[in-house]
Amino acid sequence: MQEKLLLLNRISDELNKDLNPDNMLRRVLNLTVAHLNASTGSIMLFDYQNRVSAYILQQEDLSRERASRIVGTVLTEGFAGWMLEHGEGGIIHDTYQDHRWVIYDNQPYDVRSVIGMPLRRRQRVTGVLTLVHDETDRFKEEDLPLLNAIAGQAAIALENAQLFKETEQERSRLSAIINSTQDAVLVTSADNKVMLLNPAAQEMMGLNGKSWHKRKITELTSSADLLKLFAPDSPSMGEVLLPDGRTMWANVTEMADMGRVTLLRDISAYKELDRMKRNFVIAFTHDLRTPLATIKGYIELVRMDGPVTARQQEDLVGIARAANSMKSMMEDLLELSKLEQLEQLPVETIELADIVQPSVSYMRPLAKSKEISLLTEDATNGIKIEGNVVLLTRAISNLLDNAIKYTAREGKVLVTSSQNNDLALVSVTDNGPGISAKDLPRVFEKFYRARAEVDEDIPGTGLGLSIVKTIIEHHHGKVWVESQPNVGSTFTIALPIIKQD
Ligand code: ADP
Repeated sequence: MQEKLLLLNRISDELNKDLNPDNMLRRVLNLTVAHLNASTGSIMLFDYQNRVSAYILQQEDLSRERASRIVGTVLTEGFAGWMLEHGEGGIIHDTYQDHRWVIYDNQPYDVRSVIGMPLRRRQRVTGVLTLVHDETDRFKEEDLPLLNAIAGQAAIALENAQLFKETEQERSRLSAIINSTQDAVLVTSADNKVMLLNPAAQEMMGLNGKSWHKRKITELTSSADLLKLFAPDSPSMGEVLLPDGRTMWANVTEMADMGRVTLLRDISAYKELDRMKRNFVIAFTHDLRTPLATIKGYIELVRMDGPVTARQQEDLVGIARAANSMKSMMEDLLELSKLEQLEQLPVETIELADIVQPSVSYMRPLAKSKEISLLTEDATNGIKIEGNVVLLTRAISNLLDNAIKYTAREGKVLVTSSQNNDLALVSVTDNGPGISAKDLPRVFEKFYRARAEVDEDIPGTGLGLSIVKTIIEHHHGKVWVESQPNVGSTFTIALPIIKQD
């Protein structure tokens, strides 16, 4: 008993010593063969399709080709196949008398008795351990429990080794990806200590081989833009301007109990392209103004040179309308491009009413011309916001312009000012045609117009709401729409309120 326990202990030591399954199993095999006084032995391992994935022989006395032939036979007709099928071990006292033992030609040693045990993990036979002797009747029933214990330990160790290998492979694959990517990857702990920086991140921070592991991020960079990402209530994404002039797009992911992963991608080339595109639009629309003015001038000349027939007069009106719509489009495009390029907005502290009232007054004549009642409701008490009066008035006027433009004659448009926690809200509600669910998510896109508007020939550029959105975003606010077809639409803008004290 004592001796068996010692053997099991030694086997357990051997199994833990090495994570290479081949070495591990070979040493276990040697110990077991020695302990049971066998002549020699083997271990065969199976994959999930029960194909032999490894064949470990104590004596390397078979050529590969011959070994694989023998493996095939013993698996289909022999003892190994029997153990695989029955999932249990057994003893062959005399190989000449037992059909489970296949005797093949030119066997290098005589086999007369055999003991074998399957290696099992989670109801699956993962391998078989077989010991042989050149004399009959050399193994006893009482050897089976010991062999079973050895096979059990070996199966667990084998699974652990496999899992370790897979984890290690996964780890090295991930680390190869992280190290080779052009994106900078920073992993920081909850207290902003740097746990991982890939080569792109080290280059971005100009570390030049300086040690960084477990140092505070504040010790490694002085870039205010970059450090902003690690502040307690930092946004989860945004642009970062590096001291070397590059613009990066940062994406921060919080990881429970670990800290955060910050990914930064160099978007300088896209920023430059965007700047070039905007400059082009500005220059192009600017240059188109003169020929457009010329077209309008010629329309007047033709009229003055007259007389023109009624038909010609109609054609001239058509040309003038097209020229005007082109002019609006150019003006809107120019305004949007300039707004998008705006880096610092001149702002002042204003009351909400300072932007609502002028917009309403400005739009009243248009409402009157369509006999639309334009009403206001103010539930705020002089709340203040920080903003640019000209641009915010333009935003509310655009919403009003749409409400009046799309609502039928004698309709109703209501402007409400209200407060919701820290936000000042201005809503423009109409009882116009509404917007279909299909169009609703797209109305703030540049040049997007609902099909119906185009079909009904209602003039517009599809840029008005993009301008509103850009203005409101410059003010750190939000704009959204709720609408129901045939009932009406409500466009709301929300702007941060300035605390009174
Ligand atoms: P435009 O009015 O010049 O077409 P906008 O960007 O201002 O461009 O609006 C985009 C589209 O959103 C419009 O073409 C229209 O289909 C829809 N829309 C905007 N406001 C309203 C509204 N008050 N009622 C119904 N549809 C609207």
